[in-house]
This record gives sequence, C-alpha cells and structure tokens, in this order.
Amino acid sequence: ARGADVRFVYSPLDALRVAVENPAREVVFFAVGFETTAPSTAVTVLRARAEAVSNFTVFSNHVTIVPPMKAILDSPDLRLDGFLGPGHVSTVVGQRPYRFVPEIYRKPVVTAGFEPLDILQAIEMLLLQIREGRCCVENQYTRCVREEGNPRALEILAEVFELRPHFEWRGLGFISESALKLRGELAHFDAELRYSVPGVRVADPKACQCGEVLKGAIKPWECKVFGTACTPETPIGTCMVSSEGACAAYYNFGRLHRDVAVSMGATN
Ligand code: SF4
Repeated sequence: ARGADVRFVYSPLDALRVAVENPAREVVFFAVGFETTAPSTAVTVLRARAEAVSNFTVFSNHVTIVPPMKAILDSPDLRLDGFLGPGHVSTVVGQRPYRFVPEIYRKPVVTAGFEPLDILQAIEMLLLQIREGRCCVENQYTRCVREEGNPRALEILAEVFELRPHFEWRGLGFISESALKLRGELAHFDAELRYSVPGVRVADPKACQCGEVLKGAIKPWECKVFGTACTPETPIGTCMVSSEGACAAYYNFGRLHRDVAVSMGATN
C-alpha cells in the first residue's frame, strides 16, 4: 500500500461513507466487476454528486460482458459448443444482448443460476438445443432474470458511464469498447482525471494459458502449471482466482475426471 490507507468495503456506499466521515482525506473507490456491480457504483457517484461530497472519487475498472464473449467467439482456435450465460450479469442486462451469439455464430446460450441444480438444468438445456439442432438464447434462471433485464439499473449505468475505446483483459488482450469510464460531466468524481494514474500494465505470466482455457482450446488440467505452481492458494491466472473460475472449479471438483481422462488417453 506504500503508506496509503487501503480498506475493503462491502459496497461502494461504504466507501462514500468513509469519505463523508473523513472530509480532510481523499477517498478513491477502486471499482471492479461486470454490469452486476457497476450499477451500485453508479448510484454511489450520483449520491456523491447530490450530497456534494468533494473528497470522493472512483477509479472505474468496470467491464462489460458482450465484447469479451465476441472476442472469444472470434478466436480462430475456439472450441466451445455453447455458453452458460452469466446469471448475475443477466439480472441487469437481460437476455437480449446475447442474441447475436446464435444469430451470427450459431452457438446456443442458456442463462444459468448458481445452485447445482441450476447448472445441471442449464447444461441439459444446452445439450437439448445441440441434439435437436436448435440454436437460441434460453433462460434457466427465470426466477431472477427477465428478458429486458433491469431497466432502471441500465438507465443509471447509461447516465453515469460511457464506453472506453479499449481495455486490456488478462488472457484475452485488448478488447475494444469492453469497459466503462465515468462520463465527462462527472469528471469531478473520476480518479483518473483528478490524479495522475500511470498506465501500468501487468503482463500475463508466461506460463499462464487462461486465454486457451476460456476459448475451450485446452482443459484446465492441460495447462503446464495447473495444480502445481497454480492453485487456488497460489493462483497465477484469473481462471484460478475466483472459485467460479474454470481452473479453480476443475481443481476443486474435477481432478477425478482429469485422472480418468488422462489414464484413458494413455491407454488409447
Ligand atoms: S489459471 Fe492457472 S492453471 Fe488455469 S490456465 Fe491460468 S495459469 Fe493455467
């Protein structure tokens, strides 16, 4: 932290409260996440403006779901047959943004919830589409996701954010218009404009094959460092960081299948 006071907060509003309670200090909220978390950052910025909080800024690293999906679909080494759509993001953006996937790329999408039965049912729905030669966007997570998403959240996002021309993703490189920055009229709350933020780039570790995992080109256990140098306790790539990441899931639950697959491969 190099002497800075860095705190974890459960919500952007908690960061705003820290700013209000410490008017002599500058508070920067480091904002990350897809469309799931961006609306709460947007609400916080609007509240900061309404309450004229002058010592609060946001360093927006929010990203959007469709451009990376498109980047993955455009990869020449793509080996995916369909997508489980992200449940939380879809509660905000709805189902419509995914229509290009079946229409242009001829791949099915099923938005899935997070319980084990949700995932199983969504996989079954995907497999049925493939078996029956259908290709469309379906919604397994109907108890939370609506076709049109959350119009109020989308409205607030549009009011506060605009697209960045480019953003660099780990494992996928630069993707156009894939991230959000604060609109010009909210410049007072934009940490990148209030402070000089060096454009620090952190290269992916050489051993990392997250890009290939994301595209389905390799299974997680085919990465050279899977389960050795790269584990959930010592993650090297993004796919091992979150418990929802493909590599972490394979590490925690898929090792038996890997052993079976490896031994089958060895005897074939
Ligand atoms: S997260 Fe780790 S194991 Fe998975 S591809 Fe990246 S480096 Fe390899």
